[in-house]
Amino acid sequence: MRLMCECHSEKIRMAFFIFVRFMKKIELIKGDITRIKADAIVNAANSSLMGGGGVDGAIHRAGGAAILEECREIIARQGSCKTGEAVITTAGNLPAKFVIHTVGPVWNNGKKNEASLLAACYKNSLTLAVTHNLSSIAFPNISTGIYGYPKDEAAEIAIATVTEFLDQNELITKVYFVCFDEENYQLYKSLIKD
Ligand code: ADP
Repeated sequence: MRLMCECHSEKIRMAFFIFVRFMKKIELIKGDITRIKADAIVNAANSSLMGGGGVDGAIHRAGGAAILEECREIIARQGSCKTGEAVITTAGNLPAKFVIHTVGPVWNNGKKNEASLLAACYKNSLTLAVTHNLSSIAFPNISTGIYGYPKDEAAEIAIATVTEFLDQNELITKVYFVCFDEENYQLYKSLIKD
């Protein structure tokens, strides 16, 4: 009986340790991702990589023409960027060093594999950051704007995918979730606190 209790409390201690470790690596910010000074910021792009509205437009406006030029070169080399995939450019005039462009899924009532495609956006962006030896990365709430993904489900996928990745990779030491709108911010706040 005593042994069981010790084992149980050890599990709680470990769970708490992991929780604290991840919470230090994950930071929630309310604001504009173009102002974040991380090794990389992630852009919720579209498959043409030619810019658009929402966070995509904000990044290209603030970052300047160099980003679009590099996106053009990528498209010329590999064709369009498919949903769930990610590519990297420098960050032009932004305070970040790189922009990782990933294409989120358009919400289609959950019938088009949206959940695993959204998870792939986070996973592939993090993998690309590791490949480039980057240790800090900032994410917007991919697909939750024009692409219409339900914000609560998207937040759960984002946090679960990032947490799992951090569990398996030591190189990334900081992940910022940058929420532009109050609804996403409150959702992330409650999920990260749980
Ligand atoms: P998507 O097409 O993937 O839905 P959007 O840009 O329309 O992309 O929206 C994705 C998220 O980005 C939304 O939650 C929106 O509030 C947020 N967003 C818009 N502008 C910014 C910004 N400057 N910084 C951070 N997030 C932003």
